[in-house]
Amino acid sequence: AREAEDAAPPEPGALADGTAVNLLANLGKPGDAADAVARGAEGVGLFRTEFLFLSSAQAPTIEQQRAAYIELLAAFEGKKVVVRLLDAGADKPLAFLNDAHEENPALGLRGLRALRASEDILREQLTALAEADAATAADLWVMAPMVTTVEETEYFTTLAKDYGLKTTGVMVEVPASALLADQVLLHADFASIGTNDLTQYTMAADRLLGSVASFQDPWHPAVLRLVREVGEAGARRGKPVGICGEAAADPLLAVVLIGLGATSLSMAPAALADVRRMIATHTLDDAKRIAAAALDTSDADAAREAARSAAQR
Ligand code: PEP
Ligand code: MG
Repeated sequence: AREAEDAAPPEPGALADGTAVNLLANLGKPGDAADAVARGAEGVGLFRTEFLFLSSAQAPTIEQQRAAYIELLAAFEGKKVVVRLLDAGADKPLAFLNDAHEENPALGLRGLRALRASEDILREQLTALAEADAATAADLWVMAPMVTTVEETEYFTTLAKDYGLKTTGVMVEVPASALLADQVLLHADFASIGTNDLTQYTMAADRLLGSVASFQDPWHPAVLRLVREVGEAGARRGKPVGICGEAAADPLLAVVLIGLGATSLSMAPAALADVRRMIATHTLDDAKRIAAAALDTSDADAAREAARSAAQR
């Protein structure tokens, strides 16, 4: 079976009732594209652009950025590629963007907040993306990290559209934007939930701090309820809601996330096969029932257990 699987290109992601769920890749550099395609990624759900910035003392030029984006987009002709703008700050500090000392950098000038404070860098990144988009034939979606307010959503999507970028959205990584997702999705074409940060901010536990690592569990029903807010808002507004945090790589949690309204899942390419296999064994009604069981609990372990037993029924 293993050999046959390696030989034939994997089927697109689908539930047992035929409902399509795009299975996408999280990538950190263009060179990772070939492996993702070989593993059946139907596109890219999160392209992290930090690699362009972290290695140097200054921002890369527009030309350097354009070349990297063209390399990525060319590998996914006709497919969806979601590029995230630079997410500097907190766990990804950058000397030229995050120069002031912050006592609590995860709560400071990071993500879109940092880009907005250095708008020249934001504008250069949008320029490079628009040029790469014009030179290639992928379906480019662009999103901003760490968006907290509706006003920030409107600011970013308006600015990105001014550069000719067609599909512009936001990452939902902060409880505030999850709770106001119906308002956020009036302005954004899509939302992508970053469960790593959404968990950190919901549980008020630094994701880098070992002493509070037990709080960093996306199965926690408080996190799941926020995901449900976004999923329901997406359904009401007719807008896609993706998941691009590590949670999407947990096969049973992937089913729960679909049951909460996620329309695509993005993950490390190595996780695609197991998630594809698991979601194919459940219908959308199953996923909703399993999600309801997980939601109706008081902690992460109980949610995991409730989902497991609901999935066996
Ligand atoms: C997340 O926060 O879930 C996410 C996908 O972004 P990153 O891990 O890069 O912060
Ligand atoms: Mg994040």
